[in-house]
Amino acid sequence: MSFASLGLHPDLLQQVTALGYNTPTPIQQAAIPAVLAHTDLMAGAQTGTGKTAAFALPLLHRILLQKNTACIQVLVLTPTRELAQQVHASFVKYSNNLPIRSVVAYGGASINVQLDALKQGCDVLVATPGRLLELLMKNLIDLSRLQTLVLDEADRMLDMGFIIDIQRILKTLPAERQTLFFSATFNDEIFALSKTLLRDPKLIEVDSRNTTATQVEQRVYAVDQDRKSALLSFLIGSKNWQQVLVFTRTKQGADELAKEMAKDGIATQAIHGDKSQGARDRVLADFKAGKVRALVATDVAARGIDIDQLQYVVNHELPYNAEDYIHRIGRTGRAGSAGLAVSLVAEKERYLLTDIEKLVGEPFIVQWLPGFEPDLNKTSNTQTKREPSKKERRAKALGIPGKAGKKPHNRRR
Ligand code: AMP
Repeated sequence: MSFASLGLHPDLLQQVTALGYNTPTPIQQAAIPAVLAHTDLMAGAQTGTGKTAAFALPLLHRILLQKNTACIQVLVLTPTRELAQQVHASFVKYSNNLPIRSVVAYGGASINVQLDALKQGCDVLVATPGRLLELLMKNLIDLSRLQTLVLDEADRMLDMGFIIDIQRILKTLPAERQTLFFSATFNDEIFALSKTLLRDPKLIEVDSRNTTATQVEQRVYAVDQDRKSALLSFLIGSKNWQQVLVFTRTKQGADELAKEMAKDGIATQAIHGDKSQGARDRVLADFKAGKVRALVATDVAARGIDIDQLQYVVNHELPYNAEDYIHRIGRTGRAGSAGLAVSLVAEKERYLLTDIEKLVGEPFIVQWLPGFEPDLNKTSNTQTKREPSKKERRAKALGIPGKAGKKPHNRRR
């Protein structure tokens, strides 16, 4: 199938050809005709599948055909500023030299600059929920002629607690509109939200639900917690990995790991919500330019990072939420290129690995890397050589049979 056969505007066909897109990805093949036909969509697609172009191209096509613009026709809501910037950049890229304006609005940056941009005309507004509400409450924007609402990474928006904001925004939008709902994962909460939003939607699932990106090789190393950063530095150094995205669970953990890796001689920076927007942009630009070799990020901060052909993703810690694993490794193996996702798993994290295995529906082969084998004595020592409790000491002194005589419980499997 070609882009031309999808019936897109010739100007857009020119742009995609110039960008080197030869064939529409599966999500594009399924979504583009539906969006062109004004159908509501419920699409299951993770980052890296080409989902942005799947909605951006047909929406731009419709704007191009409508002569009566001068109003916001498309609103894209994203959970994070990075994703907002990335989606906005895609709209700009696909409408290069065309009479269409995309504006991006997110918190943590000057509202006046964004207002100035809006005043110059806006066909497509890409925004995070908080900043959009601020603009709406202050009557600074008019969405009364909106035609299409896109919720991008809806699952993440719910995870981040944006549901109330979204509901308030929805009240200000015309009831007669098209709504496109994109989510990497589905659960009951997502379905509940989609039911309130969508009318007779077309359900598109390019991959089966909750699956990981197919082009990604997933490797799991068992390692002691205190040896993880040494193992990571070793992998990056010995295998000459460039552009490695590393995940930690906390902002503090991200900072600490970045410092340790820098001490090992690997140019590393951390990116997370405590950093200013300017600092985040700089770190990201340095990472993209290859000045920073490893970027340590929290799940939230990593959402909007779009780097073509990002080859390596490392889970320095497994996420508490198994679905985050899918989001994380979706950062690599993008649009058909191969990627490697490595998870460093300490013994105490094994239950998180089990959760992920259940979600993706297949077991992992857990490997040991020579020189970094987990110290099993540490684990068994702590269990067998623990101090006897007061009760046990008293029982022994009195000659009462202790645990040995009892039915075993809590046995390790
Ligand atoms: P997305 O899933 O929207 O984040 O897109 C992932 C990457 O795939 C982006 O860098 C796009 O530029 C690229 N891309 C999107 N569609 C295509 C296509 N049909 N062929 C090749 N690359 C694409």
